[in-house]
Amino acid sequence: MCKTLVLAQNENLTIAQCCNCRVLNIWRAGVLMNFSFEQFKAFYHATKTLEFDNYLESRPDGKEVVILSTPLPDISLVFTRYEWREFFEKMEEANFMQKVYELVNR
Ligand SMILES: [Zn+2]
Repeated sequence: MCKTLVLAQNENLTIAQCCNCRVLNIWRAGVLMNFSFEQFKAFYHATKTLEFDNYLESRPDGKEVVILSTPLPDISLVFTRYEWREFFEKMEEANFMQKVYELVNR
């Protein structure tokens, strides 16, 4: 059983990794996403400069959200403005901590 390392966390979101398997997990409200380190890096770089306001859509209840597609064509992630900011703050933090651990374990 591998020991996972938490890179970034708050009450809604946990980003953790396993260095043995080189796998990274994002836990978010009933959704668990698994990435290889390479996939995470690609996802991070592809999404980090996206502006919430440029991708606005309306949920059926009228709330403004942004929908982010995933590598699985029928599954998308939905973010409110608050969740979006929170998500990318934690992605930033996870990316930073991952680099720190990489240096420490070299
Ligand atoms: Zn593992």
